[in-house]
Amino acid sequence: MPADLPRRSTDVVVAGGGPVGLYLAVLLLQAGVSVQVLEQRPSRSSHSRAIGVHPPALESLAQAGIGDAMIREGVRITHGEARSAGRTVARLDFAAASDRYPFVLTLPQVRTEHLLEERLRALDPGALVRGSKVESFDDLGSSVRVYGTSEGQPFMTEAVLLVAADGARSGIRSALGTRWSARDLPDTYVMGDYPDGTGDGALAVLYLEPEGIVESFPLPGGLRRWVAHSGALPPEVTAAGLAQLVHRRTGHRLDVAGNSMLSAFGVRIGRAHHLVSGRTVLVGDAAHQISPIGGQGMNLGWLDAAAVAPLIAASLHGKPMGRALQDFERRRRRGAVVASAQARANMVLGRPLPQRAMALRNAGLERMFQVPALGGAVARRFTMQ
Ligand SMILES: Cc1cc2nc3c(=O)[nH]c(=O)nc-3n(C[C@H](O)[C@H](O)[C@H](O)COP(=O)(O)OP(=O)(O)OC[C@H]3O[C@@H](n4cnc5c(N)ncnc54)[C@H](O)[C@@H]3O)c2cc1C
Repeated sequence: MPADLPRRSTDVVVAGGGPVGLYLAVLLLQAGVSVQVLEQRPSRSSHSRAIGVHPPALESLAQAGIGDAMIREGVRITHGEARSAGRTVARLDFAAASDRYPFVLTLPQVRTEHLLEERLRALDPGALVRGSKVESFDDLGSSVRVYGTSEGQPFMTEAVLLVAADGARSGIRSALGTRWSARDLPDTYVMGDYPDGTGDGALAVLYLEPEGIVESFPLPGGLRRWVAHSGALPPEVTAAGLAQLVHRRTGHRLDVAGNSMLSAFGVRIGRAHHLVSGRTVLVGDAAHQISPIGGQGMNLGWLDAAAVAPLIAASLHGKPMGRALQDFERRRRRGAVVASAQARANMVLGRPLPQRAMALRNAGLERMFQVPALGGAVARRFTMQ
């Protein structure tokens, strides 16, 4: 058999080699479970999405052996600030939110996936097969057969379990007929990475302005990510257009020639009503899609994986599962509801508001953040504690 075709049998097939599928595969291999990750893309996507990694996920990534490497490459954000009309309205101290990881880390998703893939290949060089698309599957009761194509050639892999980590548009979730409640929210954003000339160092800054929020986060390599609420999805995003918008709302002039990433996105949220069906488990965005604002989707998926990996390992080693899978489903659906509510609150905070209403709202925020216990509670919510 050519080396790049999937194996004919394995303990677990993970469909999707995004951050959640790769992470789950690492945990399973570490627990002595054989894994085949099938990823339809021949190479990693360079499109930048997630950057924020929160303390609970850092704990889990340390268990997967890549926490230190991520921290070495990333930027540690210990504080955040909300500004409006040139004034500081609120300060957030992330340092107090966790003893072990007193910061939120930023690292572009493409680097995170690179480190996960490197770790996976170190554990089993053949675990990830790129260019392999899962087309269908057959739950036989005592095993599951997964069918697909790899570089144009059909393949079949038989496993004890199929994990769908195939993203928000999960084909496996659709094939299972799992109920998926989804809707589009009215918010749209444009974002881009530019050389950091703000002087804000490792500070995360939210500019609460009448035209809509601008978020500004430090990135490795002396860059800063700017995310701005926009009235609608623009037909074309340009480095100069986003720079103008940022300048109008915040006063910062961005280095347009140094722009290295541009994107625009709308917000769709969705939740699967079941995560476990027969021999199939949904994790990550396949199980729940939340707003990118607040930066929790990937972290949430990692926490799914960290919760299910020991259950899978125990069941494959012959331990009775009892109600463990139902508990997993209940707890992870609840985790998604909480994270989604936090992301919605962040979005509401960033919507355009008439000047007067914004001044009143910001005065309320200022008063609230003068109460240390409230500020601490908000910081803990922001960092998924
Ligand atoms: C603009 C933006 C910013 C974000 N910022 C953050 C942030 O700061 N922090 C955070 O935690 N989250 C953030 N997110 C969310 C985060 O990107 C997602 O939650 C995360 O990528 C989900 O990972 P996943 O592995 O579940 O799915 P995906 O990343 O979607 O990966 C799924 C993989 O499955 C593959 N696949 C699909 N179908 C098949 C098939 N049939 N066969 C084989 N392979 C298949 C796909 O090619 C893909 O590689 C952001 C999202 C966006 C859009």
